[in-house]
Amino acid sequence: MSDVVIIGGGPAGLTLGCYLADAGVPCVILERAQHPRPHVGESLMPAAIRIFKEIGFLPIMEAADFPHSGGVVYHPGGRTSIPIGYSEFPQEGIEQEYTYHVDRSKFDLLLLKHAENQGCRLVQGANVREVVFENGAARGVDAEIGGQTVSFPARVVVDAGGRATKIGRQLGLRRDHPVLDQFALHAWFLDVDRGSRATEDYTHIYFLPELRGWAWTAPINDEITSIGVVADRSVYAVYQEADVGIADFFLESLSKNKALKKATKRAERINELKGEVNYSYQLDQTCGDGWIALGDAARFTDPIFSSGVSVAMHNARFAAERIQTALESGDCRRETFLPYEDKLRADAAIWDDFIRLFYRLLPAFTHVVESPEHRASVLRLIQGEVHADTDGHVLEEMRGLVSRVERADTHELKDQLMDFPMA
Ligand SMILES: Cc1cc2nc3c(=O)[nH]c(=O)nc-3n(C[C@H](O)[C@H](O)[C@H](O)COP(=O)(O)OP(=O)(O)OC[C@H]3O[C@@H](n4cnc5c(N)ncnc54)[C@H](O)[C@@H]3O)c2cc1C
Repeated sequence: MSDVVIIGGGPAGLTLGCYLADAGVPCVILERAQHPRPHVGESLMPAAIRIFKEIGFLPIMEAADFPHSGGVVYHPGGRTSIPIGYSEFPQEGIEQEYTYHVDRSKFDLLLLKHAENQGCRLVQGANVREVVFENGAARGVDAEIGGQTVSFPARVVVDAGGRATKIGRQLGLRRDHPVLDQFALHAWFLDVDRGSRATEDYTHIYFLPELRGWAWTAPINDEITSIGVVADRSVYAVYQEADVGIADFFLESLSKNKALKKATKRAERINELKGEVNYSYQLDQTCGDGWIALGDAARFTDPIFSSGVSVAMHNARFAAERIQTALESGDCRRETFLPYEDKLRADAAIWDDFIRLFYRLLPAFTHVVESPEHRASVLRLIQGEVHADTDGHVLEEMRGLVSRVERADTHELKDQLMDFPMA
């Protein structure tokens, strides 16, 4: 029997594996795919660097020659653009002023090899079919490997299997987001105009209010750029009725923001257009007797701030602490994991408000990003490093502006209020 069995060899599961191996805790990671496998989520936020350092992965990232990312530029729609450079906000424990854009198939493979070198046992091509429970407590998993069912008993089961939300679905704990019902289309392109030299290596985010969504461009290497469009499903339904196919819808979306239209004027798609649907949800519980869920398996909301990988890794860091406490004390009941769930819940509440305010009135976001007083907090928030006590003022500021615009009979921003319910 392993102490810990981890479902999923993505950033969450592999990072957890590294922390556990470092603490001498035997674990096995079961991954249904064979790496390298493609995955969405290519721009990393600075918060990930802290984890890379702790798990000894930073030298591998440096040697891998991924393009650097110096920051993010927001393009609200008109002529202005709002850049945020990571060098503006030196962060504790992070010496470098850049992060990376990654081809996820390469990044996840490197992390997988690193976890293996650190001492994790990895089984690829192992599709976890069921989490096994005894008297209400998780006791291991059954996985299908080469057509056979193989049991992996363990003292703690971790769901790091991403949006498949294995435990969440098995226990009926997965709840779709009450408002966000978006989908994303993305592919790789040649000949995308990356703009001025100062921000050519940044992630570019373009607001698309007409689609209740947004778009990204991010360099994959010197020539290839990833482009993605996020839209509300109700918006696409209208196009569908007019017989507009998904590829045409994608192309049309690129013309809905002036800066995006310019950047993609000559863009040529070089791989298949991929879709991601229905990805905003959370679990009612993120831990239970003998189990814990992390990364996308615990919750996921609109990826506009490119924070998914760093959030997954930070979840893994905290989960590793609780798992060690549970194994050392011999008490793997839900109570031992609860501090982890409480932190996730508090962060999720702030994050959810932030995203709702963002959609309700886009200028409320540009207002706080442009404000010297709030800019640093916004950077922390957008990379998922939420601090309820210090970052709440950003939300207050946004809320204040939204309610002033809502109450005013006339206001220059009135026509930018979107029909987007707050909590
Ligand atoms: C449109 C979109 C854009 C995004 N852009 C960004 C971005 O720019 N930057 C960023 O940081 N994040 C981004 N994300 C989020 C990012 O993709 C995820 O947050 C991140 O991959 C989460 O890591 P994870 O390890 O939790 O899950 P995953 O990376 O999904 O890994 C889970 C692993 O579990 C495996 N698995 C699943 N089920 C089973 C099973 N039953 N048995 C065994 N293995 C299983 C899967 O094969 C997979 O390898 C984006 C997401 C979307 C939808």
